[in-house]
Amino acid sequence: MALNLNSIIACVGACGFVSMAAAAPPPPMPDLSPPSDANQSVFRLQGFDTTKLADALYTFRWEGTRNIFWVTPDGVIATDPISVSAAKALRDEIRKVTDKPVKYVVYSHQHWDHILGAQIFKDEGAQIVSHKNCVAHFEELPHPDLVMPDITFDGNYELTLGGKTLELIYLGHNHGDCMIVMRPQPYPILFEVDLVTPFGVPLGRMNDYSLIPYIKSLRAIEAMDDIETIVPGHRMPTAPISAVTERRAYVEALMLAVKKEIEAGTPMNQIPDKIALPEFAHMRNYDTQIKENVRRVLTHYNMGW
Ligand SMILES: [Zn+2]
Repeated sequence: MALNLNSIIACVGACGFVSMAAAAPPPPMPDLSPPSDANQSVFRLQGFDTTKLADALYTFRWEGTRNIFWVTPDGVIATDPISVSAAKALRDEIRKVTDKPVKYVVYSHQHWDHILGAQIFKDEGAQIVSHKNCVAHFEELPHPDLVMPDITFDGNYELTLGGKTLELIYLGHNHGDCMIVMRPQPYPILFEVDLVTPFGVPLGRMNDYSLIPYIKSLRAIEAMDDIETIVPGHRMPTAPISAVTERRAYVEALMLAVKKEIEAGTPMNQIPDKIALPEFAHMRNYDTQIKENVRRVLTHYNMGW
């Protein structure tokens, strides 16, 4: 008897083997694009304010997130616009101290909770600046409130306006791969976003942090021996540079403690309950976050990520 393909498929199916029939195609992908101007703050801070850091240099806070802006004789350099609503408030705050236009908006990195809402400045002639590595993220994950950069750069970049220079410093793949820290010369001040939120431990499983490059970046900041003050992208307007050392020491101690348990043969699922770092127990969120931080480190030692 001659066999044709259909009878073979029928036999295989009847015999309990895997069917050779093609799977049904998936339904159309639902609209998973992010909502516009959503209230995404995970911090319990409300409202907004502006604090003067130095002559013509300011930090603006919107809920728990902040940026810096710098008024120069030829216009304003703004940074992370945060969101559509935050950018409107930022524009009003800038107008209170100068009538000069915003010429540049610099993105610290690619994360939506810092850099949405720049259109209001772009409409008035500002150019958007970011590290070149951000562009691939923006193309892969578009957002209705995200404005693409006009100026991108590799490595470090000096943004000069009205005789003032904002140094944009790339420290590597620490929290995402397009993070920069910003140094308004000649002040001993560094604007850093998400690398250190002073006096606290990292949140949860340390989303998008690559631990070893992250530690190296914190060490690079500590080695900037003329920096005395950081302006963090979350919470308080300023903190001493020692906050960077404290955060770096915590992450290193955490990694060493986890490594010690792995080497001692402690089952992975028991390690989060075994780790305690009492010398860092004074840090904000220590009690609620350390187990999740440990799980993040376990992922690193398991996966190399
Ligand atoms: Zn981030």
